[in-house]
Amino acid sequence: MTFTLAIVGRPNVGKSTLFNRLVGKKLALVDDQPGVTRDLREGAARLGDLKFTVIDSAGLEDATDDSLQGRMRRLTERAVEMADICLFLIDARVGVTPVDEVFADILRRKNAHVIVAANKSEGKAGDAGYLEAFSLGLGEPVRLSGEHGEGITDLLQVLMPIADELEKAAEDQPSFEPETDVDVEDGDEELAPRVPTKAKPLQIAVVGRPNAGKSTLINKILGEERLLTGPEAGITRDAISLAIDWEGTPVRIFDTAGMRKKARIEDKLEKMSVSDGLRAVRFAEVVVVLLDVEIPFEQQDLRIADLAEREGRAVVIAVNKWDTEDHKQDKLKELREAFERLLPQLRGAPLVTVSAKTGKGLDRLHGAILKAHEVWNRRISTANLNRWLAGMLEQHPPPAPGGKRIKMRYATQVKTRPPAFVVMTSYPEAVPESYSRYLINGLRMDFDMPGTPIRLTLRDQG
Ligand code: GDP
Ligand code: GDP
Repeated sequence: MTFTLAIVGRPNVGKSTLFNRLVGKKLALVDDQPGVTRDLREGAARLGDLKFTVIDSAGLEDATDDSLQGRMRRLTERAVEMADICLFLIDARVGVTPVDEVFADILRRKNAHVIVAANKSEGKAGDAGYLEAFSLGLGEPVRLSGEHGEGITDLLQVLMPIADELEKAAEDQPSFEPETDVDVEDGDEELAPRVPTKAKPLQIAVVGRPNAGKSTLINKILGEERLLTGPEAGITRDAISLAIDWEGTPVRIFDTAGMRKKARIEDKLEKMSVSDGLRAVRFAEVVVVLLDVEIPFEQQDLRIADLAEREGRAVVIAVNKWDTEDHKQDKLKELREAFERLLPQLRGAPLVTVSAKTGKGLDRLHGAILKAHEVWNRRISTANLNRWLAGMLEQHPPPAPGGKRIKMRYATQVKTRPPAFVVMTSYPEAVPESYSRYLINGLRMDFDMPGTPIRLTLRDQG
Protein backbone atom coordinates (compact mmCIF):
# COMPACT_ATOMS: atom_id res chain seq x y z
CA MET A 1 0.00 0.00 0.00
CA THR A 2 1.11 3.50 -0.61
CA PHE A 3 0.11 6.70 1.11
CA THR A 4 -0.13 10.40 0.42
CA LEU A 5 1.91 13.01 2.22
CA ALA A 6 0.94 16.67 2.02
CA ILE A 7 3.51 19.35 2.71
CA VAL A 8 1.76 22.30 4.31
CA GLY A 9 2.80 25.54 5.96
CA ARG A 10 2.82 29.26 5.35
CA PRO A 11 4.61 30.72 2.31
CA ASN A 12 8.37 30.68 2.27
CA VAL A 13 9.00 27.99 4.87
CA GLY A 14 10.55 25.78 2.19
CA LYS A 15 7.73 23.55 1.00
CA SER A 16 8.64 23.55 -2.68
CA THR A 17 12.31 23.04 -1.97
CA LEU A 18 11.50 19.99 0.11
CA PHE A 19 8.98 18.77 -2.43
CA ASN A 20 11.62 18.91 -5.16
CA ARG A 21 14.06 17.03 -2.97
CA LEU A 22 11.57 14.26 -2.17
CA VAL A 23 10.38 13.91 -5.74
CA GLY A 24 13.78 14.34 -7.34
CA LYS A 25 13.97 13.97 -11.05
CA LYS A 26 10.82 11.94 -11.27
CA LEU A 27 8.74 15.04 -10.85
CA ALA A 28 5.39 14.42 -12.44
CA LEU A 29 2.87 17.19 -12.65
CA VAL A 30 -0.68 16.01 -12.58
CA ASP A 31 -2.32 19.37 -12.32
CA ASP A 32 -5.08 18.52 -14.67
CA GLN A 33 -6.49 15.74 -12.57
CA PRO A 34 -10.07 16.44 -11.58
CA GLY A 35 -10.32 17.69 -8.06
CA VAL A 36 -6.76 18.84 -7.87
CA THR A 37 -6.40 22.58 -8.04
CA ARG A 38 -3.74 24.21 -10.12
CA ASP A 39 -2.10 25.15 -6.87
CA LEU A 40 -1.46 21.66 -5.70
CA ARG A 41 1.49 19.85 -7.20
CA GLU A 42 1.66 16.14 -6.89
CA GLY A 43 4.65 13.86 -7.35
CA ALA A 44 5.91 10.37 -6.67
CA ALA A 45 8.47 10.16 -3.88
CA ARG A 46 10.70 7.52 -2.51
CA LEU A 47 12.43 7.57 0.84
CA GLY A 48 14.26 4.47 2.01
CA ASP A 49 11.83 1.63 1.40
CA LEU A 50 8.83 3.90 1.42
CA LYS A 51 7.09 4.89 -1.78
CA PHE A 52 4.43 7.51 -1.56
CA THR A 53 2.73 10.46 -3.21
CA VAL A 54 3.69 13.98 -2.15
CA ILE A 55 1.46 16.98 -2.48
CA ASP A 56 2.94 20.44 -2.37
CA SER A 57 0.53 23.11 -1.25
CA ALA A 58 2.82 25.99 -2.19
CA GLY A 59 1.74 28.35 -4.94
CA LEU A 60 0.60 31.15 -2.73
CA GLU A 61 3.52 33.42 -3.31
CA ASP A 62 1.59 35.59 -5.71
CA ALA A 63 -1.43 35.87 -3.47
CA THR A 64 -0.52 38.95 -1.57
CA ASP A 65 -3.99 40.40 -1.27
CA ASP A 66 -6.03 40.15 1.87
CA SER A 67 -7.73 36.98 0.76
CA LEU A 68 -4.43 35.26 1.39
CA GLN A 69 -5.59 33.74 4.63
CA GLY A 70 -8.75 32.37 3.03
CA ARG A 71 -6.89 30.90 0.07
CA MET A 72 -4.22 29.43 2.26
CA ARG A 73 -6.83 27.86 4.44
CA ARG A 74 -8.74 26.44 1.51
CA LEU A 75 -5.65 25.06 -0.13
CA THR A 76 -4.37 23.54 3.07
CA GLU A 77 -7.68 21.94 3.86
CA ARG A 78 -7.84 20.46 0.41
CA ALA A 79 -4.31 19.11 0.69
CA VAL A 80 -5.11 17.69 4.10
CA GLU A 81 -8.23 16.00 2.81
CA MET A 82 -6.25 14.31 0.08
CA ALA A 83 -3.48 13.24 2.42
CA ASP A 84 -2.96 10.44 4.87
CA ILE A 85 -0.14 12.30 6.55
CA CYS A 86 0.54 16.04 6.79
CA LEU A 87 4.05 17.34 7.02
CA PHE A 88 3.73 20.74 8.61
CA LEU A 89 6.75 22.96 8.05
CA ILE A 90 7.76 25.94 10.08
CA ASP A 91 10.82 28.06 9.46
CA ALA A 92 13.14 27.28 12.38
CA ARG A 93 15.11 30.46 11.74
CA VAL A 94 12.03 32.58 12.24
CA GLY A 95 10.30 30.51 14.94
CA VAL A 96 6.59 30.00 15.38
CA THR A 97 4.58 32.89 13.94
CA PRO A 98 0.87 33.70 14.37
CA VAL A 99 0.26 32.41 10.85
CA ASP A 100 1.86 29.11 11.82
CA GLU A 101 -0.61 28.97 14.70
CA VAL A 102 -3.46 29.32 12.22
CA PHE A 103 -2.12 26.29 10.36
CA ALA A 104 -1.68 24.36 13.59
CA ASP A 105 -5.33 25.05 14.40
CA ILE A 106 -6.48 23.74 11.04
CA LEU A 107 -4.36 20.64 11.43
CA ARG A 108 -5.45 19.96 14.97
CA ARG A 109 -9.07 19.85 13.88
CA LYS A 110 -8.34 17.31 11.17
CA ASN A 111 -8.23 13.68 11.94
CA ALA A 112 -4.95 13.13 10.16
CA HIS A 113 -1.44 12.19 11.11
CA VAL A 114 0.60 15.33 11.48
CA ILE A 115 4.37 15.60 11.55
CA VAL A 116 5.82 18.96 12.49
CA ALA A 117 9.18 19.80 10.99
CA ALA A 118 11.41 22.71 11.92
CA ASN A 119 12.83 23.44 8.47
CA LYS A 120 15.95 25.40 7.63
CA SER A 121 17.56 23.77 10.66
CA GLU A 122 21.02 23.38 9.22
CA GLY A 123 23.65 24.81 11.50
CA LYS A 124 22.66 26.20 14.86
CA ALA A 125 20.43 29.03 13.72
CA GLY A 126 17.34 26.88 13.98
CA ASP A 127 17.71 25.71 17.58
CA ALA A 128 15.34 28.19 19.20
CA GLY A 129 12.73 27.69 16.50
CA TYR A 130 12.98 23.95 16.95
CA LEU A 131 12.19 24.28 20.67
CA GLU A 132 9.30 26.61 19.92
CA ALA A 133 7.84 24.04 17.55
CA PHE A 134 7.12 21.76 20.52
CA SER A 135 4.57 24.25 21.77
CA LEU A 136 2.38 23.75 18.70
CA GLY A 137 1.14 20.66 20.47
CA LEU A 138 1.30 18.53 17.36
CA GLY A 139 3.97 16.11 18.42
CA GLU A 140 7.70 16.13 18.64
CA PRO A 141 9.15 18.17 15.78
CA VAL A 142 11.72 16.85 13.32
CA ARG A 143 14.76 18.99 12.56
CA LEU A 144 14.97 19.34 8.82
CA SER A 145 16.84 21.17 6.14
CA GLY A 146 15.12 20.64 2.84
CA GLU A 147 17.72 22.62 1.01
CA HIS A 148 20.70 20.78 2.45
CA GLY A 149 19.05 17.42 2.74
CA GLU A 150 19.61 17.19 6.47
CA GLY A 151 17.18 15.39 8.77
CA ILE A 152 15.70 13.35 5.95
CA THR A 153 16.61 10.13 7.77
CA ASP A 154 14.91 11.42 10.91
CA LEU A 155 11.85 12.16 8.82
CA LEU A 156 11.95 8.61 7.52
CA GLN A 157 12.15 7.27 11.09
CA VAL A 158 8.97 9.14 11.95
CA LEU A 159 7.21 8.19 8.73
CA MET A 160 7.82 4.46 8.92
CA PRO A 161 5.66 3.62 11.94
CA ILE A 162 2.85 5.79 10.60
CA ALA A 163 3.03 4.05 7.22
CA ASP A 164 2.86 0.75 9.11
CA GLU A 165 -0.16 1.88 11.04
CA LEU A 166 -1.90 3.06 7.88
CA GLU A 167 -1.28 -0.27 6.26
CA LYS A 168 -2.69 -2.14 9.24
CA ALA A 169 -5.70 0.14 9.34
CA ALA A 170 -6.32 -0.53 5.66
CA GLU A 171 -6.24 -4.26 6.32
CA ASP A 172 -8.64 -3.91 9.21
CA GLN A 173 -11.14 -1.83 7.29
CA PRO A 174 -14.51 -3.46 7.65
CA SER A 175 -15.92 -4.70 4.39
CA PHE A 176 -19.17 -2.79 4.71
CA GLU A 177 -19.88 0.88 4.53
CA PRO A 178 -20.60 2.44 7.88
CA GLU A 179 -24.01 3.98 8.09
CA THR A 180 -22.73 6.86 10.14
CA ASP A 181 -23.73 10.29 9.08
CA VAL A 182 -21.34 12.64 7.45
CA ASP A 183 -20.01 15.60 9.27
CA VAL A 184 -19.90 18.69 7.17
CA GLU A 185 -18.46 21.50 9.21
CA ASP A 186 -19.83 24.92 8.64
CA GLY A 187 -17.16 27.06 7.14
CA ASP A 188 -16.90 30.29 5.27
CA GLU A 189 -18.90 30.48 2.11
CA GLU A 190 -15.99 30.93 -0.19
CA LEU A 191 -14.95 27.38 0.51
CA ALA A 192 -15.44 25.09 -2.42
CA PRO A 193 -17.57 21.99 -1.83
CA ARG A 194 -15.51 19.71 0.26
CA VAL A 195 -15.13 16.02 0.56
CA PRO A 196 -17.26 15.31 3.60
CA THR A 197 -15.37 13.69 6.42
CA LYS A 198 -17.02 10.84 8.25
CA ALA A 199 -18.04 11.39 11.84
CA LYS A 200 -15.85 9.11 13.81
CA PRO A 201 -17.56 6.89 16.34
CA LEU A 202 -15.68 5.97 19.47
CA GLN A 203 -13.86 2.73 18.75
CA ILE A 204 -14.14 0.02 21.36
CA ALA A 205 -12.70 -3.47 21.60
CA VAL A 206 -13.64 -6.03 24.22
CA VAL A 207 -10.80 -8.41 24.99
CA GLY A 208 -10.28 -11.16 27.52
CA ARG A 209 -9.81 -14.86 27.94
CA PRO A 210 -12.22 -17.39 26.46
CA ASN A 211 -15.48 -17.66 28.39
CA ALA A 212 -15.03 -14.33 30.12
CA GLY A 213 -18.31 -13.34 28.50
CA LYS A 214 -17.16 -11.18 25.59
CA SER A 215 -19.80 -12.39 23.15
CA THR A 216 -22.49 -12.13 25.77
CA LEU A 217 -21.44 -8.57 26.55
CA ILE A 218 -21.19 -7.46 22.95
CA ASN A 219 -24.50 -9.05 22.09
CA LYS A 220 -26.10 -7.37 25.07
CA ILE A 221 -24.79 -4.00 23.97
CA LEU A 222 -25.76 -4.49 20.37
CA GLY A 223 -29.15 -5.86 21.19
CA GLU A 224 -30.71 -8.82 19.47
CA GLU A 225 -32.15 -6.98 16.53
CA ARG A 226 -28.97 -5.29 15.69
CA LEU A 227 -27.18 -8.56 15.53
CA LEU A 228 -29.70 -10.09 13.16
CA THR A 229 -29.66 -7.22 10.73
CA GLY A 230 -25.94 -6.57 11.12
CA PRO A 231 -23.39 -7.12 8.40
CA GLU A 232 -23.63 -10.86 8.82
CA ALA A 233 -22.83 -11.53 5.19
CA GLY A 234 -19.46 -9.93 5.62
CA ILE A 235 -18.38 -12.35 8.29
CA THR A 236 -15.26 -14.20 7.42
CA ARG A 237 -12.53 -15.40 9.66
CA ASP A 238 -11.51 -11.78 9.70
CA ALA A 239 -12.62 -9.17 12.13
CA ILE A 240 -15.52 -6.89 11.48
CA SER A 241 -16.81 -3.94 13.38
CA LEU A 242 -20.28 -2.69 14.01
CA ALA A 243 -21.35 0.90 14.34
CA ILE A 244 -24.18 1.52 16.78
CA ASP A 245 -25.66 4.19 18.93
CA TRP A 246 -24.97 3.26 22.53
CA GLU A 247 -27.14 5.38 24.77
CA GLY A 248 -26.63 8.39 22.56
CA THR A 249 -22.94 7.80 21.88
CA PRO A 250 -21.95 6.65 18.40
CA VAL A 251 -19.60 3.75 18.98
CA ARG A 252 -17.98 1.16 16.82
CA ILE A 253 -17.38 -2.18 18.42
CA PHE A 254 -14.68 -4.43 17.18
CA ASP A 255 -15.80 -7.99 16.84
CA THR A 256 -14.03 -11.02 15.55
CA ALA A 257 -15.88 -13.59 13.61
CA GLY A 258 -14.67 -16.05 16.20
CA MET A 259 -16.35 -14.16 18.96
CA ARG A 260 -19.67 -13.76 17.27
CA LYS A 261 -19.91 -17.15 15.74
CA LYS A 262 -18.93 -18.93 18.87
CA ALA A 263 -22.45 -19.18 20.16
CA ARG A 264 -23.06 -21.58 17.31
CA ILE A 265 -19.78 -23.37 17.47
CA GLU A 266 -19.17 -26.49 19.49
CA ASP A 267 -15.57 -25.85 20.26
CA LYS A 268 -15.97 -23.36 23.06
CA LEU A 269 -12.34 -23.61 24.01
CA GLU A 270 -11.08 -22.08 20.84
CA LYS A 271 -8.73 -19.39 21.93
CA MET A 272 -8.80 -15.84 20.90
CA SER A 273 -5.49 -15.90 19.14
CA VAL A 274 -2.75 -13.47 19.98
CA SER A 275 -3.06 -11.81 16.61
CA ASP A 276 -6.82 -11.37 17.10
CA GLY A 277 -6.13 -9.69 20.39
CA LEU A 278 -3.46 -7.51 18.90
CA ARG A 279 -5.71 -6.51 16.06
CA ALA A 280 -8.52 -5.68 18.43
CA VAL A 281 -6.21 -3.51 20.50
CA ARG A 282 -4.85 -1.71 17.45
CA PHE A 283 -8.34 -1.02 16.23
CA ALA A 284 -9.56 0.39 19.51
CA GLU A 285 -9.37 3.76 21.16
CA VAL A 286 -10.71 2.28 24.35
CA VAL A 287 -9.92 -1.33 25.22
CA VAL A 288 -12.28 -3.06 27.64
CA VAL A 289 -10.43 -5.88 29.38
CA LEU A 290 -13.18 -8.26 30.44
CA LEU A 291 -12.39 -10.48 33.42
CA ASP A 292 -14.33 -13.42 34.78
CA VAL A 293 -14.99 -12.77 38.46
CA GLU A 294 -14.25 -16.42 39.22
CA ILE A 295 -10.78 -16.32 37.68
CA PRO A 296 -9.72 -12.70 37.38
CA PHE A 297 -6.27 -11.53 36.28
CA GLU A 298 -5.17 -14.70 34.54
CA GLN A 299 -1.93 -14.65 32.58
CA GLN A 300 -3.77 -14.02 29.35
CA ASP A 301 -5.69 -11.10 30.84
CA LEU A 302 -2.49 -9.54 32.13
CA ARG A 303 -0.76 -9.92 28.82
CA ILE A 304 -3.51 -8.27 26.81
CA ALA A 305 -3.94 -5.46 29.34
CA ASP A 306 -0.22 -4.81 29.16
CA LEU A 307 -0.35 -4.87 25.38
CA ALA A 308 -3.15 -2.29 25.39
CA GLU A 309 -1.07 -0.04 27.61
CA ARG A 310 2.01 -0.39 25.46
CA GLU A 311 0.01 0.39 22.35
CA GLY A 312 -1.16 3.55 24.06
CA ARG A 313 -4.84 2.74 24.33
CA ALA A 314 -7.26 3.90 26.99
CA VAL A 315 -8.13 0.93 29.18
CA VAL A 316 -11.20 0.04 31.23
CA ILE A 317 -11.17 -3.09 33.38
CA ALA A 318 -14.58 -4.75 33.59
CA VAL A 319 -15.21 -7.64 35.95
CA ASN A 320 -17.98 -9.79 34.53
CA LYS A 321 -20.47 -12.29 36.00
CA TRP A 322 -20.91 -10.05 39.02
CA ASP A 323 -24.39 -11.56 39.40
CA THR A 324 -22.80 -14.78 40.63
CA GLU A 325 -20.78 -13.12 43.35
CA ASP A 326 -22.18 -13.43 46.88
CA HIS A 327 -19.62 -11.41 48.81
CA LYS A 328 -19.49 -8.36 46.64
CA GLN A 329 -17.90 -5.99 49.13
CA ASP A 330 -14.97 -8.26 50.02
CA LYS A 331 -14.50 -9.34 46.46
CA LEU A 332 -14.25 -5.80 45.22
CA LYS A 333 -11.55 -4.98 47.73
CA GLU A 334 -9.65 -8.10 46.77
CA LEU A 335 -9.94 -7.24 43.06
CA ARG A 336 -8.64 -3.73 43.54
CA GLU A 337 -5.63 -5.01 45.45
CA ALA A 338 -4.86 -7.61 42.81
CA PHE A 339 -5.21 -4.95 40.13
CA GLU A 340 -2.72 -2.60 41.80
CA ARG A 341 -0.25 -5.39 42.38
CA LEU A 342 -0.48 -7.14 39.00
CA LEU A 343 -1.00 -4.20 36.65
CA PRO A 344 0.90 -1.26 38.15
CA GLN A 345 1.40 0.10 34.64
CA LEU A 346 -2.37 0.65 34.41
CA ARG A 347 -2.59 2.55 37.66
CA GLY A 348 -5.66 4.70 37.77
CA ALA A 349 -7.59 2.78 35.13
CA PRO A 350 -11.24 2.38 36.09
CA LEU A 351 -12.45 -0.98 37.34
CA VAL A 352 -16.16 -1.62 36.99
CA THR A 353 -18.29 -4.63 37.75
CA VAL A 354 -20.86 -5.83 35.27
CA SER A 355 -23.17 -8.65 34.44
CA ALA A 356 -23.28 -9.17 30.72
CA LYS A 357 -26.06 -11.65 31.28
CA THR A 358 -28.47 -9.38 33.14
CA GLY A 359 -27.19 -6.09 31.78
CA LYS A 360 -26.54 -4.75 35.26
CA GLY A 361 -23.63 -2.32 35.40
CA LEU A 362 -23.58 -1.61 31.66
CA ASP A 363 -24.44 2.03 32.30
CA ARG A 364 -21.40 2.29 34.56
CA LEU A 365 -19.28 0.64 31.90
CA HIS A 366 -20.61 3.12 29.36
CA GLY A 367 -19.68 6.00 31.67
CA ALA A 368 -16.19 4.64 32.34
CA ILE A 369 -15.54 4.22 28.61
CA LEU A 370 -16.59 7.79 27.84
CA LYS A 371 -14.48 9.19 30.64
CA ALA A 372 -11.42 7.14 29.64
CA HIS A 373 -11.82 8.31 26.05
CA GLU A 374 -12.10 11.92 27.12
CA VAL A 375 -8.97 11.67 29.23
CA TRP A 376 -7.13 9.93 26.43
CA ASN A 377 -7.86 12.99 24.27
CA ARG A 378 -7.03 15.49 27.01
CA ARG A 379 -4.91 18.50 26.15
CA ILE A 380 -3.23 20.56 28.85
CA SER A 381 -2.05 24.06 28.09
CA THR A 382 1.66 24.77 28.21
CA ALA A 383 1.10 27.51 30.78
CA ASN A 384 -0.71 25.15 33.16
CA LEU A 385 1.88 22.47 32.65
CA ASN A 386 4.75 24.75 33.50
CA ARG A 387 3.04 26.05 36.59
CA TRP A 388 2.51 22.46 37.57
CA LEU A 389 6.12 21.50 36.80
CA ALA A 390 7.44 24.33 38.95
CA GLY A 391 5.34 23.05 41.85
CA MET A 392 6.52 19.47 41.38
CA LEU A 393 10.16 20.53 41.28
CA GLU A 394 9.78 22.61 44.39
CA GLN A 395 7.99 19.90 46.31
CA HIS A 396 10.53 17.27 45.41
CA PRO A 397 13.61 18.49 43.56
CA PRO A 398 15.34 16.09 41.20
CA PRO A 399 18.36 14.32 42.71
CA ALA A 400 21.92 15.23 41.75
CA PRO A 401 23.41 11.91 40.68
CA GLY A 402 27.19 12.06 40.56
CA GLY A 403 27.07 15.74 41.38
CA LYS A 404 25.22 16.52 38.16
CA ARG A 405 22.69 19.24 38.76
CA ILE A 406 19.52 18.31 36.96
CA LYS A 407 17.62 21.36 35.89
CA MET A 408 14.19 20.98 34.35
CA ARG A 409 13.14 24.05 32.48
CA TYR A 410 10.12 23.52 30.36
CA ALA A 411 7.29 21.08 29.85
CA THR A 412 4.85 20.83 26.98
CA GLN A 413 2.29 18.38 25.73
CA VAL A 414 3.28 17.10 22.32
CA LYS A 415 0.45 14.67 21.61
CA THR A 416 -2.90 13.33 22.65
CA ARG A 417 -4.38 9.84 22.23
CA PRO A 418 -2.64 9.08 24.58
CA PRO A 419 -1.35 12.25 26.19
CA ALA A 420 2.41 12.62 25.67
CA PHE A 421 4.65 15.19 27.26
CA VAL A 422 8.17 16.41 26.78
CA VAL A 423 10.23 17.90 29.57
CA MET A 424 13.35 19.83 28.65
CA THR A 425 16.07 19.06 31.11
CA SER A 426 19.80 19.03 31.58
CA TYR A 427 21.29 15.51 31.77
CA PRO A 428 18.15 13.64 30.67
CA GLU A 429 20.01 10.33 30.87
CA ALA A 430 20.86 10.94 34.51
CA VAL A 431 17.26 11.43 35.63
CA PRO A 432 16.27 8.31 37.54
CA GLU A 433 13.28 6.26 36.46
CA SER A 434 11.65 6.91 39.84
CA TYR A 435 11.66 10.65 39.15
CA SER A 436 9.97 10.16 35.79
CA ARG A 437 7.36 8.05 37.57
CA TYR A 438 6.88 10.79 40.13
CA LEU A 439 6.16 13.23 37.31
CA ILE A 440 3.84 10.84 35.48
CA ASN A 441 1.87 10.04 38.62
CA GLY A 442 1.72 13.75 39.36
CA LEU A 443 0.28 14.45 35.92
CA ARG A 444 -2.28 11.73 36.41
CA MET A 445 -3.38 12.98 39.84
CA ASP A 446 -3.19 16.71 39.32
CA PHE A 447 -4.87 16.78 35.94
CA ASP A 448 -7.28 13.94 36.71
CA MET A 449 -6.29 11.51 33.98
CA PRO A 450 -7.27 7.98 34.99
CA GLY A 451 -7.54 5.23 32.45
CA THR A 452 -5.00 6.42 29.94
CA PRO A 453 -1.34 5.72 29.41
CA ILE A 454 0.74 8.84 29.87
CA ARG A 455 3.99 9.18 27.96
CA LEU A 456 6.83 11.33 29.19
CA THR A 457 10.02 12.01 27.28
CA LEU A 458 13.00 13.86 28.71
CA ARG A 459 14.89 15.93 26.19
CA ASP A 460 18.26 17.52 26.44
CA GLN A 461 17.69 21.22 26.45
CA GLY A 462 21.12 21.68 24.95
P1 GDP B 1 7.60 27.65 -0.01
O1 GDP B 1 7.00 28.96 -0.27
O2 GDP B 1 7.17 27.15 1.37
O3 GDP B 1 7.38 26.63 -1.07
O4 GDP B 1 9.19 27.88 0.14
P2 GDP B 1 10.35 27.64 -0.92
O5 GDP B 1 10.66 26.20 -1.07
O6 GDP B 1 10.04 28.41 -2.14
O7 GDP B 1 11.56 28.31 -0.13
C1 GDP B 1 11.52 29.65 0.32
C2 GDP B 1 12.95 30.15 0.54
O8 GDP B 1 13.57 29.44 1.62
C3 GDP B 1 13.84 29.95 -0.67
O9 GDP B 1 14.67 31.08 -0.78
C4 GDP B 1 14.66 28.73 -0.33
O10 GDP B 1 15.91 28.73 -0.95
C5 GDP B 1 14.77 28.84 1.16
N1 GDP B 1 14.93 27.53 1.80
C6 GDP B 1 14.18 26.42 1.56
N2 GDP B 1 14.61 25.38 2.33
C7 GDP B 1 15.64 25.84 3.07
C8 GDP B 1 16.51 25.26 4.05
O11 GDP B 1 16.43 24.08 4.40
N3 GDP B 1 17.44 26.06 4.61
C9 GDP B 1 17.56 27.37 4.26
N4 GDP B 1 18.50 28.08 4.87
N5 GDP B 1 16.78 27.95 3.32
C10 GDP B 1 15.83 27.21 2.73
P1 GDP C 1 -16.50 -15.40 25.48
O1 GDP C 1 -15.77 -16.67 25.19
O2 GDP C 1 -15.65 -14.44 26.22
O3 GDP C 1 -17.13 -14.77 24.27
O4 GDP C 1 -17.69 -15.80 26.52
P2 GDP C 1 -19.24 -16.04 26.25
O5 GDP C 1 -19.93 -14.76 26.02
O6 GDP C 1 -19.39 -17.11 25.24
O7 GDP C 1 -19.69 -16.54 27.70
C1 GDP C 1 -19.12 -17.70 28.30
C2 GDP C 1 -20.13 -18.27 29.31
O8 GDP C 1 -20.31 -17.36 30.40
C3 GDP C 1 -21.50 -18.48 28.71
O9 GDP C 1 -22.02 -19.68 29.24
C4 GDP C 1 -22.30 -17.30 29.20
O10 GDP C 1 -23.66 -17.57 29.33
C5 GDP C 1 -21.67 -17.04 30.55
N1 GDP C 1 -21.79 -15.64 30.95
C6 GDP C 1 -21.42 -14.54 30.24
N2 GDP C 1 -21.66 -13.43 30.92
C7 GDP C 1 -22.21 -13.79 32.10
C8 GDP C 1 -22.68 -13.06 33.26
O11 GDP C 1 -22.65 -11.84 33.35
N3 GDP C 1 -23.16 -13.83 34.29
C9 GDP C 1 -23.21 -15.16 34.24
N4 GDP C 1 -23.70 -15.79 35.31
N5 GDP C 1 -22.78 -15.87 33.19
C10 GDP C 1 -22.28 -15.21 32.12
